[in-house]
Amino acid sequence: MKNRYSGSCLCGEVRFSVSGFSQQAANCHCSMCRKFHGAAFGTLVGVQDLTWLSGESQLREYAAPNGTVRSFCGYCGSSLGFRAKDMPRNQMELAIAAFDDEIPVRIDAQIYTKYKAVWCELYGDVPVFKEGREP
Ligand SMILES: [Zn+2]
Ligand SMILES: [Zn+2]
Repeated sequence: MKNRYSGSCLCGEVRFSVSGFSQQAANCHCSMCRKFHGAAFGTLVGVQDLTWLSGESQLREYAAPNGTVRSFCGYCGSSLGFRAKDMPRNQMELAIAAFDDEIPVRIDAQIYTKYKAVWCELYGDVPVFKEGREP
């Protein structure tokens, strides 16, 4: 039974590991996620016990006008993390695509689909929300 899961950016400067994941992970189709990830959607997951194995000093941050902060590698630009306004850095959510290990995460929602790209097809078997998850 594995107890740590590792990930890294494209150039390998930034490496991290975590001990577990939140139950929820959504594909977010909002325009900020699309642009930050350079992709049809972004998928971030809450993690437990985030540890930077290397390259923490290479992390760069972008604070959006709404106060949300996105972290990326300063060398290769890989999109790595997201956190809400005023959250400490080590409580950021991580981009699931940056993990190198297989991770026990299942996509359980498709959110902000009102803003999705017309060329992007939604998954048929995962709940869809026009905005955020309903409470
Ligand atoms: Zn990098
Ligand atoms: Zn989003």
